[in-house]
Amino acid sequence: MDYRESLSTGPEGSMQAHQVSHFFSAVDVARRGRWDDDALRQLAHLAIPEGLLGPRGNLVRADVTLAQARWYLEGLVDYAAFEQDESLRFGRLALQLWQALVAQNPQIPRDELHEVALKLATVAWSEVRARRIRHRARMTLDTRRTLWFRELDPRCYLCGYKFTAGARDRFLRRSRSPLTPPPLVDFTRPRTKERHLLIEIDHMQAVAEGGTNELDNLSLACGWCNIVKGRRGSIFDVDSRPIGMLDHPTLGWLSVPQPMWVLRIVSMRGRCEHPSGCSANLANSELLVAPYSSRGALNPANTLVFCGEHDPWKDERLISRTLVV
Ligand SMILES: [Zn+2]
Ligand SMILES: [Zn+2]
Repeated sequence: MDYRESLSTGPEGSMQAHQVSHFFSAVDVARRGRWDDDALRQLAHLAIPEGLLGPRGNLVRADVTLAQARWYLEGLVDYAAFEQDESLRFGRLALQLWQALVAQNPQIPRDELHEVALKLATVAWSEVRARRIRHRARMTLDTRRTLWFRELDPRCYLCGYKFTAGARDRFLRRSRSPLTPPPLVDFTRPRTKERHLLIEIDHMQAVAEGGTNELDNLSLACGWCNIVKGRRGSIFDVDSRPIGMLDHPTLGWLSVPQPMWVLRIVSMRGRCEHPSGCSANLANSELLVAPYSSRGALNPANTLVFCGEHDPWKDERLISRTLVV
């Protein structure tokens, strides 16, 4: 059977055995010849087969595409000079982009490249402008109160964690008592330090990406999420390997996922994925990650989101914080 025919016979999104073994032959060659151009060339022309990235396929593809687009733009014009020298304007950026495009594509008519350069410059300029705004808002007590009291059930908007009364009192400056991390922690989201439990104000759109200090761009986040998010925006803004390993008391040796994967998958999905059609979401529940293939490592291709009630790791999730990496 022709390989394209076999593609059309399977259920949509399911993997095609043919295509997968062909793909992994190329991966095998490329892995063994990682520093060999010919070995890599074969792999570079293959797209990853449909279905291989599991339920997170769109997120993984979108994030890698954004990273590639950023490298392309910054490879045409380094933003550093524009970030440092505020006298450099949009026109200069557009001109430099156009010149870079003309140099790279001498066969394309210059007026066509003009249009492209303008499009690219618009995207690049919003990044440059944003990087120039270095300041973080000074959050007054009034802002804190507004953010706290506008929620009926204040939770971290990124993971759904319900803030403790102690954290609330610190946030509203009613108390200065230290917060003690619990003895048992979720090993995929270990809140082992006081700051992890605190309530922080997060810019939903980062200041560095043009976000403002207006109330509609501000949300409450737990310290853990806020630290992990930082200025990162993509699962590829961290190492592509797990952060470490853990000798779990009942599950044995496990890979510990990158905190940014956990954060991004939970906040993008935003709800429990249990097949019962559960209504738990970030506004009413803390959401947790568990593997899609139960014996596989938790990584962006193998992660599902659950509420506490449907958590397949209900009995395994919490472990002594002394065991956590
Ligand atoms: Zn959180
Ligand atoms: Zn659920």
